[in-house]
Amino acid sequence: MNALVNALRTAVGASNVLVEGDLSAYEQDWRKRYRGRALAVVRPANTTEVSAVVKLCARHDAGLVPQGGNTGLVGGSVPDASGTQVLLSLSRMNRVRGLDAANLTLTVEAGCVLQAAQEAAAAQGFLFPLSLAAEGSCTLGGNLATNAGGTQVLRYGNARELCLGLEVVTAQGEVWDGLAGLRKDNTGYDLRDLFIGSEGTLGVITAATLKLYPQPAARMTALAALPSLEAAVSLLQLAQARLGSGLTGFEVMNRFSLSLVRKHFPQLRQPLPEAEWTVLLEQSDTESEAHARGLFEGLLESAMERGLITDAAVAESIEQSRTMWHLRESIPLAQPEEGPNIKHDISLPVSRIPGFVASTDAALQAAFPGTRSVNFGHLGDGNLHYNLQAPLGVDGAAFLREHEHAVNTLVYDAVSACGGSISAEHGVGSLKRDELAQRKSPVALQMMRAIKNALDPQGVMNPGRML
Ligand code: FAD
Ligand code: ZN
Repeated sequence: MNALVNALRTAVGASNVLVEGDLSAYEQDWRKRYRGRALAVVRPANTTEVSAVVKLCARHDAGLVPQGGNTGLVGGSVPDASGTQVLLSLSRMNRVRGLDAANLTLTVEAGCVLQAAQEAAAAQGFLFPLSLAAEGSCTLGGNLATNAGGTQVLRYGNARELCLGLEVVTAQGEVWDGLAGLRKDNTGYDLRDLFIGSEGTLGVITAATLKLYPQPAARMTALAALPSLEAAVSLLQLAQARLGSGLTGFEVMNRFSLSLVRKHFPQLRQPLPEAEWTVLLEQSDTESEAHARGLFEGLLESAMERGLITDAAVAESIEQSRTMWHLRESIPLAQPEEGPNIKHDISLPVSRIPGFVASTDAALQAAFPGTRSVNFGHLGDGNLHYNLQAPLGVDGAAFLREHEHAVNTLVYDAVSACGGSISAEHGVGSLKRDELAQRKSPVALQMMRAIKNALDPQGVMNPGRML
């Protein structure tokens, strides 16, 4: 293995091959659930160097784990404990390669941080709509490798819908340039879509061409208090009917999720008193502030008359709007403050969500009395973060050790019974690999394995993840 490390040093420069010192930023995942040991952390500067690294790993039969911002939540971006896997950090490949205003595209390297891509688009008057709480550190390569969702999927789709092309280094170290930025291209299998969502198991994404949109003329944001999840689904329908494609955000939060934010981040002002459910609504308008306000306030009044909402606060400034989003985005940050927890990133047909939550909440209480449900997410996409915190006063880590498997079985059985998915936007990684093997249809798994074997027969890319 020393021979491999030496060859890597020659390929990317000794200072970009890290083998000692504190490497925990690379070797431990964001949730601190997975901690591995890398043979080396390699930080290439460009696609040619990535290609050289992949070829060396293949020649020396070493596994290669691509890593962007290391914000993934399923343990897919850190090496295993063997000390034999090479960690490929894309962090130095963070350039914006160019913006084509007439084609409405932005081309970035894979290590470009999402927020930097949003800012590059905004600097020229455009919107790159992918948005999630980790946007200050996650990268486009990671977003595409996990097909990230976030808060604007309702209107703009997830990362897959926002990507027109990729540059990829294959598992053999060949470079595929698919960056053309075409909106139509029916010349055979869609290779781009194979790599999107492949979680580093098929090749290394080194650059991407992304879709841009015009910046909206105005944005309205509100928090609304609701008596039930049924009311939230009805409000969603009403908002879709009234605002059409102007509805760009629809997030729900249960009482306990916001109470965790209140407890751990008391400095954040909560504009509404506690309610069973709180919805964050966002409207984007291409006309004007006045036009937006007319539609938005009309919607809220109508919802109030129908008894769907009991209270609402409309943001009167960009600052107030940011505060509202900040509350929503603080939920996943408040959870680890409260203690280790069990996360489920599930999706269901929107119509089935209220029934699912009522019956699954009840089943969890019956089986694990006192557990606390942190339930929030992107209701407009049918995607809930249906998480569970240990009972008050019970050691979270011990609770997880003893009950996590049984909790997952209960929740995922209920998801399957409703025709849902056990991974809506976070991916499979290490965390859900075994669950996937049990729950995905044998035919689908067989096709997935065939694709993996065809593109990476030697098993170099992110071994042991997903499949
Ligand atoms: P990493 O964590 O570094 O990697 C993730 C996976 O992609 C790994 O399997 C890795 O091997 C692979 N990978 C990374 N880069 C490449 C590459 N260049 N080529 C090939 N494979 C690669 N996700 C959502 O979808 N929606 C949310 O709303 C959301 N909110 C979040 C909030 C918080 C606070 C946090 C911490 C995470 C959140 N996530 C969310 C999860 C995470 O941010 C996303 O999955 C993100 O897209 C991961 O990007 P990353 O650069 O950090 O990837
Ligand atoms: Zn999410």
